Amino acid sequence: MLSLFGTGIGRHIAIGRAVVLGNTERTISRHLLKNDQIDDEISRLRFAVNDAREGLMRLADNLPLNAPPETRAFIDVHLLMLDDPVIATAPINTIREQKKNAEWALKLNAERLITFFEGIEDSYLRSKKNDVIQVVDRILLSLQQTPTEADNRLANDLAGHIVVAADLTPADTVMLRHRHMNGFVTRFGGPISHTAILAKSLRVPAVLGLHGTIDYIRNDDLLVIDGANNTVLVAPDETLLAEFRHRRDQAQARTLSLQSLQKEKAQTQDGRTVRLLANVELPEDLDVLHDAGAEGIGLYRTEFLFMNAHQQPSESEQYSAYCQVLEHSPGPVAIRTLDLGADKQVDGGRSNSQNTVNPALGLRAIRLCLREPDLFKPQLRAIFRAAITGQATIMIPMLSSLSELDQTLMIIDEVKDELSRDGVPFKSDVPIGGMIEVPAAAIAADLFARKLDFLSIGTNDLIQYTLAIDRIDDEVNYLYNPLHPAVLRLIRQIIQAGATAGIPVSMCGEMAGDSDYTRLLLGLGLREFSMECSSLPEIKQRIRESDINAQRATIEKILAASAPSQLDQLIAQLNDGTSD
Ligand code: PEP
Ligand code: MG
Repeated sequence: MLSLFGTGIGRHIAIGRAVVLGNTERTISRHLLKNDQIDDEISRLRFAVNDAREGLMRLADNLPLNAPPETRAFIDVHLLMLDDPVIATAPINTIREQKKNAEWALKLNAERLITFFEGIEDSYLRSKKNDVIQVVDRILLSLQQTPTEADNRLANDLAGHIVVAADLTPADTVMLRHRHMNGFVTRFGGPISHTAILAKSLRVPAVLGLHGTIDYIRNDDLLVIDGANNTVLVAPDETLLAEFRHRRDQAQARTLSLQSLQKEKAQTQDGRTVRLLANVELPEDLDVLHDAGAEGIGLYRTEFLFMNAHQQPSESEQYSAYCQVLEHSPGPVAIRTLDLGADKQVDGGRSNSQNTVNPALGLRAIRLCLREPDLFKPQLRAIFRAAITGQATIMIPMLSSLSELDQTLMIIDEVKDELSRDGVPFKSDVPIGGMIEVPAAAIAADLFARKLDFLSIGTNDLIQYTLAIDRIDDEVNYLYNPLHPAVLRLIRQIIQAGATAGIPVSMCGEMAGDSDYTRLLLGLGLREFSMECSSLPEIKQRIRESDINAQRATIEKILAASAPSQLDQLIAQLNDGTSD
């Protein structure tokens, strides 16, 4: 048996036989052409590019109805790539001038483009190399016209199978889910790649970024995906397999039993009430809010309306989207203003021509909005107008200085004045909150708390910036640690700042949806948690089993602990309820 390590998406277990996609390693022929073969070879390449284009268009036309809306946009990006000169014309020149066969010419030019992307500092743009690999693979498949056995099997039902691939496009992920694959593992990809985001929202277990170790997997190998432990087991023995089957069945039974908690209160044993809210990115997230028992939406990531869109959504398009979310929400909705920039670019990053060295530290979120009022003001207008229809609040991302907050509040006042002047109906007293996700804002949280109606802790970025690790770089993923003493101190400080100012503090980063940290966060004073709907029942259960008073001493020990091993032991004690 082998254990392979990558990045687990979700905490689920999947068991199935491997279907290794041909594109984990497509071998290509390389030979020189005679002069009289050149024209035919160019036609062959043109035909293959066209075939790839038609394949993508067919994929777009046949997308399942429940496919996330951005899937279509991902396909469009690949269609655009087919027209890129490096793919559309440079290989033709290579065939003509160097007399290399079509596969070789295509691969040579693609490798140049891939090397170019690999050299880019901007990790978002760097990740675009995967799109090049996927597009080139489509053309190679058509050139070779020799689908592998695995490619054939992909056309059938994949129930009982785990797909193994170099990478999956988001569109492939949706299609394969439609064919009932149990899970997938990939050579490339980090926890917030587009594919990972989709895997989460489609609830497909996956482990990404296995790199070279993926080559140990062969077709039909029995695999176990253990998302929680970032592990793929290859050919486990019967005893281990039985244990994983048992764990998987227990998890499924637990998910079902947790559904009965939908209407129960999120209240601790010692009578503290906690508010549980949902994070929303895609329209289909709205369908599951009620079933999950969410009391409202603690983070509505509005930039998903803009990402991969060909043009900026108009004020009225935004207005409709915000009204739809407000209408479906069981309670208040924290509409986060645009958090574009860094890994989240308008139109999929195609128009981003700057080569920012450190994009996560660059013109992102509120910084970008303040720089571009034409982007910011229509969004604010749409939110204030939509706020008439439900309980909206406005949440500002990535605040780092008070002057930024002052400027934002000024623009908000301007927008309200303009709406009044234009006679447009809107709700004026929408609460304004700020995300505390930059260490500077966390340290000065008391100053922000005095000017805001609520705070929300964005642990994804707070951890990234505090520990100086790029959250989308899978090479430094192992350093991402919510339990780092610096992170815990900052969280406590933010919660205390909110309490002193008498305003609510919630948490909407991934840490809020991880039941390993629920008791710790309750002990630090957190009373509002916002997370993906799928995590909500489990967190509610954990809250209902917790006794905050009884945990105080362990919480103090955790905050004072310095050695990681001691910390792990204390967290285990806290979660087992064996403390104090
Ligand atoms: C965060 O940073 O924790 C957060 C919730 O926002 P995002 O993940 O969208 O940056
Ligand atoms: Mg953030």
